[in-house]
Amino acid sequence: MSNSDKKIALITGANKGIGYEIARQLGKRGYLVLVGSRDKKRGQSATDRLRAEGIDAYLQILDVTHHPSLVRAHDFIRNEYGRLDVLVNNAGVVHDKVLKPSEIPLDTVREAFEPNFFGTIAVTQALLPLLRKSEAGRIVNLSSSLGSLTTLSDPTAFEGEFRLLGYGASKAALNMFTVQLAHELRNTSIKVNSAHPGWIKTDMGGAEAPGTVEEGADTPVWLATLPADGPTGGFFSERKPMLW
Ligand code: NAP
Repeated sequence: MSNSDKKIALITGANKGIGYEIARQLGKRGYLVLVGSRDKKRGQSATDRLRAEGIDAYLQILDVTHHPSLVRAHDFIRNEYGRLDVLVNNAGVVHDKVLKPSEIPLDTVREAFEPNFFGTIAVTQALLPLLRKSEAGRIVNLSSSLGSLTTLSDPTAFEGEFRLLGYGASKAALNMFTVQLAHELRNTSIKVNSAHPGWIKTDMGGAEAPGTVEEGADTPVWLATLPADGPTGGFFSERKPMLW
């Protein structure tokens, strides 16, 4: 399976939704894609569908909240390819309903932070040594407009209907990780950016969402394939800067 001539991309939570489509679009561009999935059956089914489209896809079992699976992913990618070119931190959950910040159970907030924030940091820390081996490493963090402090502090904003404290705070914190990691890596060839995919029709986005997964994957794929003079440390939607 080893093919180190191609760029190697790992997408977490790629067994469905936007992550699957990011894997598909990167695969169509000639990347070798590692299909991150915490569940073997769902991950294998997604990988098989990508391979049926001619994409060089391989299943990578990975639960962002389970440290041993991150170590296994690191060791496998190091042994097989010796480097990682793209890491898309796509895996995420929404557990909370619209609840008053004065009443929301702390556990609900913690449940969002565990994968969305801590899990993303853990995956990135585990794989950063391999991204440093790439000529042009790219890290893309799937954030959300619901994590934009500017947007949520506007009482007229459409997003105001979705004041999910756990989810929104976990994505705002994720944006802080983007900014600080990009700063740390500013003198390297690695770029780190956050993407808001739009409101997209997936299991998470729901059936009433207006956007398609193709549209949702566009900005993350653009950030994953940025040229050397592209931005780092930014927050983007529809390939344009977005308010933090
Ligand atoms: P989705 O359809 O619910 O897919 C989420 C993916 O994350 C699934 O593959 C899921 O795996 C995986 N996942 C969850 N917890 C995980 C864990 N601990 N370890 C590994 N994988 C895990 O969601 P989506 O709509 O595609 O969203 C993708 C990303 O975009 C998320 O970060 C989300 O916050 C962000 N986003 C989405 C929207 C939207 O409108 N859809 C808007 C803004 C931002 P399982 O199948 O095993 O559960």
